[in-house]
Amino acid sequence: MKVLKFGGTSVGTAEALQQVKQIVEGREERLIVVVSALGGVTDQLLSAAAMAERGDVGYRNAYDTIVSRHRDLLRELFGTEAGMQLLEPLLSELKTRLDGVFTLKVLPEKTRGEIVSYGERMSARIVAALIEDARLYDALDFIRTVPQQDRNLLDTPETERRVREAFAGFGDGQDEAAVAIVPGFIARDSRTGEITNLGRGGSDYTASILAAALDAEALEIWTDVDGFMTADPRIIKTSYVIDTLSFAEAMELCNFGAKVVYAPALYPVYPKDIPVHIKNTFNPSARGTTIRRHNPDPRPVTGIASIGDIALITLSAPSMVGIVGIDSRLFGALSRRGISVFLVSQSSSETGIVFGVSNADAEAARLTVDEEFATEISHGAMRPATAEKDLAAVAVVGEGMKYSKGIAGKLFTILGRNGIGVLACAQGSSDYNISLVVEQRFLRKSLNVIHDSFFLSEYQELNLFICGIGTVGGQLIEQIRGQRERLMRERNLKLNIVGIARSTRGIFDREGVDLTDYRARLAEGIDLTPSRLRDEVIGMNIFNSVFVDCTASADIAGLYREFLDHGISVVTANKIAASSDYANYKELKATSLKRGVKFLFETNVGAGLPIINTINALTNSGDRIEKIEAVLSGTLNFIFNTISADIPFSKTVRMAQEQGFSEPDPRIDLSGKDVIRKLVILAREAGYQVEQSQVEAHLFVPDDFFTCSMEEFWAKLPSLDAKFEQERQRLEAEHKCWRFVAKMENGHYSVSLREIPMGHSFYVLEGSNNIILLTTERYHQHPMLIQGYGAGASVTAAGVFADIMSIANI
Ligand code: ADP
Ligand code: ASP
Ligand code: MG
Repeated sequence: MKVLKFGGTSVGTAEALQQVKQIVEGREERLIVVVSALGGVTDQLLSAAAMAERGDVGYRNAYDTIVSRHRDLLRELFGTEAGMQLLEPLLSELKTRLDGVFTLKVLPEKTRGEIVSYGERMSARIVAALIEDARLYDALDFIRTVPQQDRNLLDTPETERRVREAFAGFGDGQDEAAVAIVPGFIARDSRTGEITNLGRGGSDYTASILAAALDAEALEIWTDVDGFMTADPRIIKTSYVIDTLSFAEAMELCNFGAKVVYAPALYPVYPKDIPVHIKNTFNPSARGTTIRRHNPDPRPVTGIASIGDIALITLSAPSMVGIVGIDSRLFGALSRRGISVFLVSQSSSETGIVFGVSNADAEAARLTVDEEFATEISHGAMRPATAEKDLAAVAVVGEGMKYSKGIAGKLFTILGRNGIGVLACAQGSSDYNISLVVEQRFLRKSLNVIHDSFFLSEYQELNLFICGIGTVGGQLIEQIRGQRERLMRERNLKLNIVGIARSTRGIFDREGVDLTDYRARLAEGIDLTPSRLRDEVIGMNIFNSVFVDCTASADIAGLYREFLDHGISVVTANKIAASSDYANYKELKATSLKRGVKFLFETNVGAGLPIINTINALTNSGDRIEKIEAVLSGTLNFIFNTISADIPFSKTVRMAQEQGFSEPDPRIDLSGKDVIRKLVILAREAGYQVEQSQVEAHLFVPDDFFTCSMEEFWAKLPSLDAKFEQERQRLEAEHKCWRFVAKMENGHYSVSLREIPMGHSFYVLEGSNNIILLTTERYHQHPMLIQGYGAGASVTAAGVFADIMSIANI
């Protein structure tokens, strides 16, 4: 014999009930089927009762909603007059009860218990009528409770005796029905006979009590998810079903808010090792989860769960050593007040105890402590208790934890790296639970971070904010879109674009922005200023997030520090920050180091070429960069490679801009500013402290071209063509070419247009290519040479992509 329990969603609609019917009727063995109220009805009953109590006539509407929900269901399922009449007596009793509360404006516990019991009483009737060969049993005949403080506890001996009696004939051929239908949740008080219940979610408990008392083969909890998952699937989208859990693990998780099973429901079946299967009514072929005494495959972390809205109460004393029986007094006092404590942390020096209670109990708990220790407080031996509210507790559970070192260390590290402080920590009652307290506003992020780090068997996630959708940003989004599936399949990495912004608009979606028509939706996105952008990105508070800057904006570069400070990595194609004041550059680097996040800007120099990474690799391994000589402007190289008898200088500038090789304002290239920035960045990465003003610039366009308006600039540009042509012819005759060279040597920095003779390694440099020669202690006689495309949207986007990927690999 097996006991099956169907939850509120499983009995909530006609289609769901047809599923239940198929599942139950398809079985050979005898079954006891425990049912919850139709999903949401328990809440509706409680709120109708509360309205009636405070004299709000709205309770009638609430009642009508309950009535029509049930009548509609009966019509759909049975359609007959008899079917429609099935619940009428119960519905009219319910109305009488509610009217009574409304008249008297009081709601005694007894009446509340009665009212809330109608949910299960009605649903059980429906299921009994629907399933062939079924007989309805009344749980009120055999589930018994006894009151303790403000709650009802199971009266185990009395219940067991009554259950055995009620089901004496069931299963041994005396009772003809193949299926027993039992309303879950509801009970009676052993002494008064009043209707009570087993607490919210209590139908699981009813089913477990029956399974244990009748030595069932198995208990099956049929619900609306494929099984017990690694974390609450409503919060963690990447959670997945756990095949097998031990009772101990399941208890820890359920006690800590995994509502898939009501925690007390595990107690009756555990000692008898009756397996519990969690199954999905809507996907019966899914394997589900089995809970057994032993987990055959204990992992250091099996699952995580959380409880929100808690408070920490702190008790401290210069020395508690002298105060006798502090723990028993403390917990005794709290328990007398009916305050439940679910986390305790005590320092070994006995100078403090911190414990967690619900936000709602915080004040009462604080006062209880102060009252209990009033004498000690008045003598100054102890300080008055403090309460810190709006916190959340996270439990990390796994039986394999005791065999694997460093779980707690890893937890603290990853939370810290994501900017989350741990306010208290307790190694749970067992060896396989570590509980942490964080601020409530960090709960979702904490769960995501922990899940992501401990469940890598599925996939890792990076959450990207992409700012700028010009040529580079646009290409990057396309590249990510094109690579996403492969990365997920081959690298177990999910790249999630959670925000896209351009200068004045942005769209944000923590589940991932739909990339198919993002430009159209961006046009209707929210209005953005840089500070609003900052607030949105920081406010989303997403774990493993990366801000990707594909703009050339100083305002956006000005946001990096705060992003880094909030645990958000920054990947940027924008050179402004890394080439800004040395102090600012240093501060960004230091902040990223302090926060354990990355600040990457490989594409600032040489687009996708691995120049900065190479310099870092050399210096990190103890080499010293002595000299840098480089052609770093793809734009200028393009210009000087394109200039010819047919294409004058001014036209080459226009072409560079049109083909996306130049900065949006080509004067940034012509003025040497772009190359100066790049040289400064390289020198800094090589370990030198340098400012842009220290770089000597020998330019080839007169100064007044840089101070006039854009239009004037374009208008004046052809006036330079003749001189350039004359010089070009001379160079051609001398077998030389122009290269705009950046140089660092012996503390001297310069950028200048140089005439390069044939045979020099800079001479053959196609199109917009870049070349860099690094003379180092190790590469002394023959400098290291890096050469290739140094500009262009797609290689730059690819370089940004590579930086993003290197964050995923940390
Ligand atoms: P029922 O009405 O069937 O009793 P519940 O709503 O009580 O269902 O429990 C199932 C729900 O529990 C799931 O829909 C899911 O949202 C939630 N849940 C929370 N934590 C977990 C977890 N670790 N695994 C699976 N479900 C979980
Ligand atoms: N109907 C009750 C509740 O909503 C019991 C249950 O669903 O298990 O809490
Ligand atoms: Mg439930």
